[in-house]
Amino acid sequence: MATLIRGKEVAAEVLKAAKNDVDALLAQGVMPCLAVILVGDDPASRVYVNKKKEKCEELGIRSLEYKLPAEATQEELLRLIGELNGDKSVHGILCQLPLPKHLDEQLTVRAVAREKDVDGFTCLISSGGEDLMPCTPAGVMEMLKFAGISPRGKKCCVIGRSNIVGKPMAMLLLGADGTVTVCHSKTENLPAVTREADILIAAVGKPRFVTADMVKDGAVVIDVGVNRGADGKLLGDVDFDAVEPKASYITPVPGGVGPMTIAMLMKNTVRAAKAQSRV
Ligand code: NAP
Repeated sequence: MATLIRGKEVAAEVLKAAKNDVDALLAQGVMPCLAVILVGDDPASRVYVNKKKEKCEELGIRSLEYKLPAEATQEELLRLIGELNGDKSVHGILCQLPLPKHLDEQLTVRAVAREKDVDGFTCLISSGGEDLMPCTPAGVMEMLKFAGISPRGKKCCVIGRSNIVGKPMAMLLLGADGTVTVCHSKTENLPAVTREADILIAAVGKPRFVTADMVKDGAVVIDVGVNRGADGKLLGDVDFDAVEPKASYITPVPGGVGPMTIAMLMKNTVRAAKAQSRV
């Protein structure tokens, strides 16, 4: 039976440390501040933005919401980001994705000043850890650390190469001295590749994609996937029931990687506030 790595427990630790840092900043007259930009009224984005604002409130981080209409132009959005980049009281800027189709996401996220990019989209992993890291992959690294698992010297396989999860995940594992393979939709004989992995990370976006025959005995299996089944139930990218008996550690869905993303966003915001106020 595999040991479960529960994101809630790890996130609680991260949030506790972030709260301590917020208190220290407040004591020195610095109020960490996160600006969230929401374009349009996608209901799922609304829910995510509200969750982020609630978490900020819980920790004593000031949160500002900027709501633009769905028909806002790229210029309007870039102008707002430019203003927030120049506002010294704002330490973190987050533009909730996805954006309406007429807006360029890459152009938008790259417009955020690097030191305020709490989503970590502009980070250069090669910066030696100075940049803010993308929240979900950074959350996975925290989970591994919490469970006492070091990627050092291990064969790590990431399924997925998106800019938000797969690529930065691979770079973080590489930075932690893992021997990393990145798989994608064109990978030939995927099961043969994934079966080599000591640490297998699934970031595919397909329910129960990773089956038992794709997993080496005793592997650490991290499921980043969040998918909805036909019945509306949350499902990961890993066929949990079949894979769990083979794994040494595994993350469940829900309750695995999910809670880490928002916790890492809070950590990044506090880090940004510290760096910008040099406290
Ligand atoms: P994405 O942009 O759609 O990327 C999916 C990746 O999976 C792509 O690189 C794609 O390859 C690869 N892929 C698709 N089919 C494949 C196949 N048959 N074999 C091998 N690789 C395949 O998705 P994402 O944004 O990275 O998100 C991945 C999952 O993580 C989603 O379920 C998402 O909801 C979840 N997620 C969770 C959190 C969290 O907080 N827990 C945060 C972000 C994302 P190609 O590049 O070749 O197309």
